[in-house]
Amino acid sequence: MKIAVFEAEGRRGTGIVDGNHIRVLATGEGTSSFLLRLFQTVSGDRDALLQEVDTGERVALADVKLEPPVPDRRGAVLCVGKNYYAHAKEFFGSGFDSSAKEEVPSQPVIFAKTGSSLSGHGDAIDSALDATNTVDYEGELAIIIGRTAHKVSRGDAWDVIFGYTVCNDVTSRELQKRHNQWLIGKSLDTFGPLGPHIVTADEIGDITAQKLITRVNGEVRQEAPISDLIFDIPTLIETLTRTMTLQPGDVIATGTPAGVGIGFNPPKYLKPGDVVDVEISGIGTLTNPVI
Ligand code: MG
Repeated sequence: MKIAVFEAEGRRGTGIVDGNHIRVLATGEGTSSFLLRLFQTVSGDRDALLQEVDTGERVALADVKLEPPVPDRRGAVLCVGKNYYAHAKEFFGSGFDSSAKEEVPSQPVIFAKTGSSLSGHGDAIDSALDATNTVDYEGELAIIIGRTAHKVSRGDAWDVIFGYTVCNDVTSRELQKRHNQWLIGKSLDTFGPLGPHIVTADEIGDITAQKLITRVNGEVRQEAPISDLIFDIPTLIETLTRTMTLQPGDVIATGTPAGVGIGFNPPKYLKPGDVVDVEISGIGTLTNPVI
C-alpha cells in the first residue's frame, strides 16, 4: 500500500495511491491525526480502519501537489552520517568532514535535520538560501516509524516500522563544515525533500533487496544496494531507542552512498536549473528541481 499526503485547491488530505489516483481517506484538520492512527496499525487491523474511513472520493495525482508524507507536527528527521563504506571514505577525504576522527565510524553517526526543512515531491530546492554556493544532494532511504519505540532489540526492530519513503538530505557543504555541528548546513528551508509517498513495510517485503539511484539531470551519480548500509536498520533502531523514545511518524534517514557532489574533483554542486531524481526500487522516484 502506498500512502500519500497531498494538497489540492488549498485543502490538505491523505489517501492511498491507486494507479493515477489517490483514494482519499482523510482531509483538512483530520489529516495528521488520521496519519498517526494509520501508522500505528499493523497489516492485520489496517483493513478495518480503512473501511471505517473510506470516503469514496478519488483525486487525480495530476491535480494535486504532493506534500511530505508525514503529520503536520514535523519533528526533526533523525539522520545517519557516513553509513555506506564508499561514501564514508569519499566524505572523509573531501576536507568537509570537520568532526571526523576516523574514516569509517565505529558507532552510528547520528544528527538531526529540522522538520522545517521538509518539502514534497516536485518542490523546488532553493539554492539561493545558501550564499556559499555549495549545495549538494544525498539520496537516502527513509524509515517511517509506526509505533512508540523504546529499548527495542534488533530482533523486534522491524515491528516498529510502518513503511519507507525516499529522502534527499540536501546539504550546504560549506555551512556543514563551518558550523562543526551539521544541523545548520542540513536544515535550510526546502533542503529536506521527502516522498513521493510511503510504501508500507508489508508491501515492500525485504527492503535490503532494493537499490538506490540518484540522478542529476538524468546522469547517474549514486547507485547502491540498500544492503550496503554499514549499520543496518535493526542496529539503527536498537541504537536510537536504547536512550530515546521514537514516536509514530518519526523519520530516520539512513545515510547516503558514494557519489555525492563533493566526491568529484572538482566538486559537482547543484545549481539553478538542475533536476535531482532519487529512485529506490519498490518505492518510487523523488524528483525536485533546483532554483
Ligand atoms: Mg545524509
